Amino acid sequence: MSQGSNIRVLLPGWDVLDITVIGAGPAGSAAAIRLAQSGHRVRLYEKSRFPRPKLCGGFLSPECLLDLDELGVLDPIKAAGASVVRRTVVSSPWGAYAEAPLPMPGLSLSRDVLDTLLLQRARETGVDVQEGTDGFNQVSNGGWTVVATGRKAETGRYFGVQAFFDHVEGITDQVELDLIPGGYVGFVTQGGRVNLCALTTQENLRDTGPALDAVLAAWALKNPLLGKRLRNARRASAWQAVGPVRMGLQRLTEPQRLFAGDAACIVDPLMGEGIAMGLRTSALIEQAFQQTRCPVEEAYAHAWHEQFDTALRAGAWLRKLFQPALIQDVCVAALQAFPTLLTWLAEQTRPPIYENLQPNSNRGAV
Ligand SMILES: Cc1cc2nc3c(=O)[nH]c(=O)nc-3n(C[C@H](O)[C@H](O)[C@H](O)COP(=O)(O)OP(=O)(O)OC[C@H]3O[C@@H](n4cnc5c(N)ncnc54)[C@H](O)[C@@H]3O)c2cc1C
Repeated sequence: MSQGSNIRVLLPGWDVLDITVIGAGPAGSAAAIRLAQSGHRVRLYEKSRFPRPKLCGGFLSPECLLDLDELGVLDPIKAAGASVVRRTVVSSPWGAYAEAPLPMPGLSLSRDVLDTLLLQRARETGVDVQEGTDGFNQVSNGGWTVVATGRKAETGRYFGVQAFFDHVEGITDQVELDLIPGGYVGFVTQGGRVNLCALTTQENLRDTGPALDAVLAAWALKNPLLGKRLRNARRASAWQAVGPVRMGLQRLTEPQRLFAGDAACIVDPLMGEGIAMGLRTSALIEQAFQQTRCPVEEAYAHAWHEQFDTALRAGAWLRKLFQPALIQDVCVAALQAFPTLLTWLAEQTRPPIYENLQPNSNRGAV
């Protein structure tokens, strides 16, 4: 293992590192799998025991699927009953409605299942998995660590809430975002139920909360399509909530530490790209350890910015644009008039990683 200067010299048989990964969400498990597959000795610490519930929409964008395929979990995900998602739908408080097909189908799977499959795959690739253990209590000062501990609640404006519902009307093969003043409610089918996930501001929750059923009932009055969806809906799981969350870049590196997934950067769930970014950072980490041109930390930070900066800027603009209620309506009405704009917007907020993701390619196909 290299200490001091982090420029690595690869010699036959000498380039096997001991790497600790903290956190077994998609980013941590994916990093552990890829690093173990490149021959490193990897220990993965996860503070909970799987399966565990996880607040998330569980929408796996088409961009995710190539990485899931490379990681060897795409077939198990399909076998576990992932739903196919073919369309994006957006609606506004004044009743504007836009819909467009996804450039390629995505999938949807509840995170307790997805994360368990990835962790199982990590074990199969030889990762030493330690569940129920806080990784920060185990890590000594020397050695490489990948920190993939996810979003942490701190000062920020946004709160996420999520629950599963039965009898939601009209949610079939779409990922749907129903905009409400100050946020949105998202729907996608999962395992015969509908996953409802919302992101909103602290002020919005304060106005009608704290009971989340009451908050949802108030939101249903603010968007006609949302009201229709929820007319006969019955909640089938406990609510989960997270926040406050500060979006944007958190931290990429420290000496001998690489940050991955949400621990590195939190993207607005509006983009449905958080899992894709977490999975992709694992490939960037593996490549940073492979190269010998510059320190690992520098190579990773450089590759990260190259991969994600443009999409992040576009996403931040989009979030600002969709916040004020009046603008929400104007934007959705424009998308309704020009549905190809929706596909174009989706492309701008996605990292340009997947040149291989062509409609005629079988890689990552559902
Ligand atoms: C409302 C909402 C809806 C979303 N919907 C979607 C969606 O539909 N599609 C999508 O792609 N993204 C979505 N996202 C984003 C997505 O959930 C995250 O981007 C993704 O979970 C990040 O993965 P991760 O591996 O970085 O972190 P996480 O999934 O948060 O995993 C981190 C793991 O680290 C563990 N951990 C934490 N601290 C320690 C410690 N000290 N020691 C050991 N283990 C530790 C945790 O227990 C956890 O298992 C949504 C987010 C929100 C808020």
